[in-house]
Order: sequence, then C-alpha cells, then structure tokens
Amino acid sequence: MITKSLYQEVILDHNRNPRNYGSLDNANRSAEGHNPLCGDHLNIKLNLSEGYINDISFQGESCAICKASASMMTANVKGKTQADAETMIQEFREMTIGKLEPNDKHHLGRLTVFFGVRDLPTRVKCAILPWHTLQAALNSVATISTEADDDPMHVSIGNA
Ligand code: ZN
Repeated sequence: MITKSLYQEVILDHNRNPRNYGSLDNANRSAEGHNPLCGDHLNIKLNLSEGYINDISFQGESCAICKASASMMTANVKGKTQADAETMIQEFREMTIGKLEPNDKHHLGRLTVFFGVRDLPTRVKCAILPWHTLQAALNSVATISTEADDDPMHVSIGNA
C-alpha cells in the first residue's frame, strides 16, 4: 500500500541525501534534459560497457519530485543491463500516465511511490524527466526537452 506519507518521506529522503549526485569521470554517455514547464534541468552521465550500466550520476537544478525521481532512478538502474533499464523506463512512463497499475507485473520496486503523480498532471513531466533523459543518454541523444508537449508520453528530441 502506497500512502501519502510514504511518498512524502521518500521524496524528502532523496532530496536531503540524493543518490549518485555529482559528476562521473569514466562516463561514456551523457544527456541533458529540460522541463521548461517547471524549470527542471538535469544532466545525466553514465558508463555503459558490454550492455551494462556500470555507473551513473546526475546533476542539475530541479524541483523535489524531479530530484527524488532522478535519485531513485540512478539507484535502481545502476548495475543493470541497458535492456532492463529500458524496461523500467517504459514501465515508469506507463505508471505515471495511468497505463500501469501497482498490482500489474513490473520491475519498479519502491519506484511505485510515484504512482500518485498521475493525479498531478503538472508534476508528471517532473517525475518522468530523468527517465527520458536516461533514454536519451542510452540512445546517445545530447538534449531532450518536454517543451511544447501536451502529451508526456511524447518528448521532442533535439532542438527541433
Ligand atoms: Zn519539476
């Protein structure tokens, strides 16, 4: 059962003590993500080798929801394969837009604390930005933005 207080507790914990926050010396992939709606700006760096995310970090200025999502994301995908991370990206996206229910089969673990953002349409992009930025880094796309985008499923790629 995901309670409101658990959600708040997790968000606060990850803001006080963000996991994998900082730069990464051995990064071979990186991407920047922007959410102009809120002002969130993230830079994600990772080391991808033989299909595994060996290390990952994030930096940037963002609201509490975005920061907590980025912190939990890095903790959850570190050491996983690119394929497993992409499954989680897809599942997280489906959860925040209401296509995946907590009782459905998924690999999100504690990330289900973000289940409630589906009821806060303006915060969906905040929660999902780190995941889109991770996907961009895995795809070697330098910059993504949620700008001029009514559908959080769809993110414009690049500067177009
Ligand atoms: Zn935000």
